[in-house]
Amino acid sequence: MADAIHFDQVRLPEPAQALRREVRAFLADEIAAGTFDPRRGVPTQVFDAAFSRKVGARGWIGMTWPRRYGGGERSFLERYVVTEEFRIANAPVGLHFTADRQSGPMLLRHGSERIKAEILPRITRGECCFCIGMSEPGSGSDLFAAQTRATRCDGGWRVTGTKIWTTAAHRADYMIGLFRTSPRTREDRRFGLTQFLVDMRAPGITVSPISDMSGRREFDEVAFDDAFMPDEHALGEIDGAWKQATSELAYERSGPERFLEIAYLVFELVRVLGDRPDARGAEGIGRMVAQLHALRRMSVSVAGMLEAGKEPTLEGSLVKDLGTTWQQTLPTRVRDLAAFAGAGADREVFDALLEYATLAAPKLTIQGGTTEILRGIIARGLGLR
Ligand SMILES: Cc1cc2nc3c(=O)[nH]c(=O)nc-3n(C[C@H](O)[C@H](O)[C@H](O)COP(=O)(O)OP(=O)(O)OC[C@H]3O[C@@H](n4cnc5c(N)ncnc54)[C@H](O)[C@@H]3O)c2cc1C
Repeated sequence: MADAIHFDQVRLPEPAQALRREVRAFLADEIAAGTFDPRRGVPTQVFDAAFSRKVGARGWIGMTWPRRYGGGERSFLERYVVTEEFRIANAPVGLHFTADRQSGPMLLRHGSERIKAEILPRITRGECCFCIGMSEPGSGSDLFAAQTRATRCDGGWRVTGTKIWTTAAHRADYMIGLFRTSPRTREDRRFGLTQFLVDMRAPGITVSPISDMSGRREFDEVAFDDAFMPDEHALGEIDGAWKQATSELAYERSGPERFLEIAYLVFELVRVLGDRPDARGAEGIGRMVAQLHALRRMSVSVAGMLEAGKEPTLEGSLVKDLGTTWQQTLPTRVRDLAAFAGAGADREVFDALLEYATLAAPKLTIQGGTTEILRGIIARGLGLR
């Protein structure tokens, strides 16, 4: 049964290490210029249009895509390094992150030539923001229960219904939406869904804010009222989107962002405990760094498998599950270890970051697929269900 889980032994090659040095130098310059503060405590979903354009100009968006669409034809391992460095620096990548990670690859596979030629270069220039419209008020984990309906009309489709928890919908130029184009059948409950490219500025679409527990506006509710989608915006197989949507989730689940969203707590703990932590502090830091190292090796391995053209759905789900549950333990662990650390500037930053991380931690095991759902996928991969 354990044979079903396979992590290739992947080491980052020298070109990727050289790229890491280049990315670090770029980020150090941006931090020195005051573009962003890596310790400000709002590490994700920070939008900075000028920064995204600079990243695009460096060739660090759409790195693996064909050159004719603005891509760099580089490897997934090089892309891994860029994602990792940007995440560790808490760089403001909110504008381009989703498009780079999953919407662009989705269009590359299923978009028409005209759509690819028009939209992909805009993504790689850091000028185009995407959101993902899968969840609905009555269907989150069970995507196949989606009810938002797309009905055929002259020249395209009319969409009516509601999407919810749509990260960055209020910023997005486009959504990749999952809509019901036919009823599901008795034989196949997954049948009847189609993915669409949605122009968020089309008439009939209303975006309403939802605040999260930390008070930030990260996601929205998106209502469709007879919104028109041209025929060309239906992506891939009509009624057969379940295959596409699940392979898109392999990209969404396995990256370093899945264990680095609040992992800065470990680095801040090191600062607060100083050069000579006591035995308990040293043991705690050692344990967390070892666990982080293991997660990282697994995520690099998944990047290597994507590079080799494999579809590591099971392994990607493991990285997401272990990465998010590991991160959720961090606020309590670092708070305990720092309990007797003294006052000072580092302590103030630590406390502010810990406060944010404590409020952010619960969402980690929900976004991108809940822990229970991922474990179901893992169990299926192991032949247990
Ligand atoms: C910060 C954040 C950002 C998000 N961004 C997006 C986004 O951009 N786009 C988008 O489409 N969605 C997004 N989501 C939504 C997210 O994908 C869903 O919330 C998630 O899939 C769970 O769906 P639900 O909320 O309907 O809960 P439910 O599906 O109702 O689940 C409730 C509980 O029941 C458990 N459960 C459900 N089914 C099973 C089962 N078969 N077996 C065992 N347990 C089960 C779940 O694990 C969970 O604990 C985001 C969520 C968060 C928190």
